[in-house]
Amino acid sequence: MTTVFKFGGASVKDADAIRHLTPLIEAHKERPLVVVISAMGKTTNALEALLADARDDSRGEDYRERFASLKASHREVADALFGDDADSLKARLDTLFDELDEQHRRHRDSPYPEHYDQTVCYGELLSTTLVAEWLNRQGVETEWLDARELIITDGQHQNANLDWSATTDAIRKRAGGDDRVLLTQGFIGGTPGGVSTTLGREGSDFSAAIFAHCLDAAEVVIWKDVPGLFNADPRRFDNAVQLKRLSYAETIELAWHGAKVIHPKTLGPLKQKAIPLTVRSFETPEAPPSVIDADTRFDAEHPSCILRDDQVLLEVKPKDFSFMDEPRQHDILGRLVENGVHANLIDGGAMQITLCCDNKPERLESLIESLKDDYEVTRQDELTLLTVRYPCQGMLDALSEGRETLAERRNATTTQRLFRTEECPETWHLPD
Ligand code: ADP
Ligand code: ASP
Ligand code: MG
Repeated sequence: MTTVFKFGGASVKDADAIRHLTPLIEAHKERPLVVVISAMGKTTNALEALLADARDDSRGEDYRERFASLKASHREVADALFGDDADSLKARLDTLFDELDEQHRRHRDSPYPEHYDQTVCYGELLSTTLVAEWLNRQGVETEWLDARELIITDGQHQNANLDWSATTDAIRKRAGGDDRVLLTQGFIGGTPGGVSTTLGREGSDFSAAIFAHCLDAAEVVIWKDVPGLFNADPRRFDNAVQLKRLSYAETIELAWHGAKVIHPKTLGPLKQKAIPLTVRSFETPEAPPSVIDADTRFDAEHPSCILRDDQVLLEVKPKDFSFMDEPRQHDILGRLVENGVHANLIDGGAMQITLCCDNKPERLESLIESLKDDYEVTRQDELTLLTVRYPCQGMLDALSEGRETLAERRNATTTQRLFRTEECPETWHLPD
């Protein structure tokens, strides 16, 4: 049966990281093995910055510098991996960079989301070109597949919707029953007409789940720079503990509330086919991983904390002093939908609705403009939202000590509290 491996940006960030993939892939003997790979390191951020330069007439020099630096960093990895024998690979990388440059010229007046997808997709095309060459030269027989011909989507750029039936057909035709390693890109897809699309930032996890679903895979393994899923981001909480077993449903909750370790869309396709997801460390592959499946018994074993920074609090009150009844709520939530704004916390009172949103300036400003016609809107910036799953009161008190709670929402399993970021610690500590 098929296994799907996914390697994120950190696991292919440089030549050493790429060298490190070989033993991880060789240790897994069963075939087919589908390997889904992200762009190297922070390449996607760099491509987004390049896009901003490309669309601004006054930043031609910045564009050229950034383009040259991206090209040089990929060529350097080719040199580090292959030394004197890197010329043919570097020629292929150069061709991809020429295409990227051409796409920027062609799309500079296209709508931003379309321009985004035609250019930001090159991060994954470049990384997989390098990795496929490396594996083949290491004797790991690898076939490079263009995910834009396999992950078939509509044309909703930057957040494309999958055509499951066309995708299943395309993937089964190309990727089923092969005994080679099949290497492809995360994050990217294409329309039936061959226009590139993307699935949303951090979408490579979702790509891995799509391949697994379509091929009825036995398992998906996501390789990370952490040994598995923790009950809080180990970079921000000094005593986070690993969750060794978790259900699909609980993992969706954590991801949905902002745990930036797995894309929330990943779990649905796996749950439907009961395909287990293993999260393990590419640095210490022997360490016990986290396993996510249908078993819910361990979900409430440890409380989990999730932080979201750069939050904005909006308090919305009707101008005519009327109640915040269902038609009003419907109207306000409708305006969120129209402006593409997601609320991470929604709370209501008789004459007020409280919303907490990510700070996406353009969308928020157009939402506020639209609300201001009928409502009084106040806005507060630079806030941090803390979400706790399965909290006890003592824990909430300890986590909130010394800072004012500006908004709160609570149900049987989850409490959310909003704080001023300046009042929050640099490193958090989970109370005993
Ligand atoms: P990649 O893109 O390489 O697949 P990410 O950087 O997206 O990996 O995810 C790994 C990072 O997620 C870790 O370095 C860790 O800091 C962060 N993270 C956030 N929340 C959690 C959590 N609950 N458990 C584990 N890691 C987490
Ligand atoms: N490269 C894309 C990103 O950085 C997709 C991914 O890594 O999952 O968002
Ligand atoms: Mg990532």
